[in-house]
Amino acid sequence: MKKIFETLNQNQTEKLGEALGKLLKAGDFLALAGDLGAGKTAFTRGIARGLGIHEDITSPTFTIINQYEAPVPLAHMDAYRLKTPEELENAGFYDYMEDFVVVLEWADRVEELLPGDVLWIYFTVLDENRRTIEFQSQTSHYDNILQELNL
Ligand code: ADP
Ligand code: MG
Repeated sequence: MKKIFETLNQNQTEKLGEALGKLLKAGDFLALAGDLGAGKTAFTRGIARGLGIHEDITSPTFTIINQYEAPVPLAHMDAYRLKTPEELENAGFYDYMEDFVVVLEWADRVEELLPGDVLWIYFTVLDENRRTIEFQSQTSHYDNILQELNL
């Protein structure tokens, strides 16, 4: 299933992330792809809010994995600076699969590590403030989540 949204500013992207965050549970894996500045981190900030996380989230570009405690905790990962996928494995990639919601930016760079069942989210820059955010699910689990998702 595919679902496409267009957002007109950062706040709308965060709101969409927040709406999705409210629908997620431990074990869910979101694979984010799209250019620098397309809004992946802004969207993840919304997801954190939707999960009930009050901390300010920062980009894991340099830390590779940031984790946030909540009833359903969040592992926020970024593959942008990796030289090899093994660097993400060594950072503990597989330790988060069951108990966390995992959000991975630049997931297309480490596709060989991903579990079979992920929700792909593609960010595209239309102009300075407009983005498309396209969701692609391949399983009924994520189809059901997408059916519930509205801005
Ligand atoms: P990424 O993580 O994909 O590199 P960020 O979320 O860090 O992107 O940055 C997105 C940048 O684009 C921010 O500076 C934000 O203010 C700006 N922006 C402008 N319009 C939007 C929009 N519709 N959605 C998200 N970010 C937007
Ligand atoms: Mg980012």
